[in-house]
Amino acid sequence: MEEKKVIAGMDPDMLAIHLATAGIDERYARRLLYWVYRRGIRSFSEPDDIPVRVKSALEERFITGVNPPVSSVRSSDGSVKYLFGTAGGLSHETVWLPEGRRMTVCVSVQSGCRMGCRFCATGRDGWRGNLTAGEIVNQVVGITDPFTHIVLMGMGEPGDNIGEVIRACRVFTAEWGLAAGRSKVTVSTVGVTPAVRRLLDETEVNITLSLHSPFADERAEVIPAERRWPFTESLELMQEYDNSRRRRFTVAYVMIKGKNDSGRHLEELRRLLHGTGIRVNLLPYHPLPGDSEKSADEKTMMQFRHQLVTSGVGASVRRSRGADIAAACGMLASGGTTRKRKG
Ligand code: SF4
Repeated sequence: MEEKKVIAGMDPDMLAIHLATAGIDERYARRLLYWVYRRGIRSFSEPDDIPVRVKSALEERFITGVNPPVSSVRSSDGSVKYLFGTAGGLSHETVWLPEGRRMTVCVSVQSGCRMGCRFCATGRDGWRGNLTAGEIVNQVVGITDPFTHIVLMGMGEPGDNIGEVIRACRVFTAEWGLAAGRSKVTVSTVGVTPAVRRLLDETEVNITLSLHSPFADERAEVIPAERRWPFTESLELMQEYDNSRRRRFTVAYVMIKGKNDSGRHLEELRRLLHGTGIRVNLLPYHPLPGDSEKSADEKTMMQFRHQLVTSGVGASVRRSRGADIAAACGMLASGGTTRKRKG
C-alpha cells in the first residue's frame, strides 16, 4: 500500500495537488493547513468543519505530521529542552525560551551536524541526517508552549539542508501557515554562501552569521566551513541586498577569553561592520567537557558592546539561558537516535 503523505511542511498548492490525486476536493487544502499548523491536530477526527466522508478519505491517505516530543527537561530559568524523534528514528532537540513577553522556540534543522565547529557539542557528535520541512515545523506545532519568535539555531547547519529550511520558513511566515511574521523568524548559519544567497532571494526572514573571529585564519580553526565558504562572501551578500524591507542581519560572536576578545578583534569587527547596518550579538561561551577554554567575562563583553555601539555598530550581549539543562548555545547534542539517547 502507498505510504501516507505527511501534511506538515506542505504549502496550499502542494497539498491541493495531493488531495486531487487522492480524489479529495482540493478546496479543503487551506482549511486542513489551518487545522494542522494553527491547531496542531494529530488526527483528522478533530476538525469540526470537515465532512465525515472527507475525514475518512484523509485518514486513509494522509497523516498530519504533528507529533509530541519524546521527553522534556525544564531549566531553573524557565526554559525547556524537548527531545523529538522522527519516523526514521533520528533524534533532535528543541528549546523553548521564555523571556518576559518574548517567547522563542529554537528549532533544529538536522539531527547532528557535519560542520564540525569546535565550540559546539552538536558538531562533535557528527551528522546523522537531515530533517524534513515537516519535522522542522513540528518542533513548533508539536509543543503546547506559546511563541512570539522562531529561531533556526538548534542542531544542524541550515545551509546544509537549505531546501527544507526554506520550505519550513515559508510555513512559519505565511498567512496559511503559522503567520509568525517575517521579522520574528531568524535563520542562523556559518555562512554557506549559496544557501545565504537562496535565503536572501527566496525568504524574508532575518539572517544571523556565526562569525567567531573577524580574521579568516583564526575563524577557520574554529569553524572549518570558513575554508570553503569565506564569511566575507556572506557579509558582501548582506551588504549588497536591497534592504528596503528592513530585514535584520546579525553577526553572532561567541566570546572566548584570551582568544577573540582583544582590542585587535574589536578593531577589525568595527572596520568590517561600520556603515553596513549589520548588528553584532555577543554571546558567552559554554565550555564543553574536556575543554580548557573559558568564556570572556561579563565586563569584557560589556566593554566590547560599548565600544562597538559608540563607533556606530549596533551590538547587544545575550544572556546565557538553559545552561543547567545543556540547552544553551552550542550545547545541544541528543545522541544518535531516540532509541539510543546518551542522556
Ligand atoms: S555551530 Fe552550528 S554549524 Fe557549527 S557544528 Fe554546531 S550546529 Fe553545526
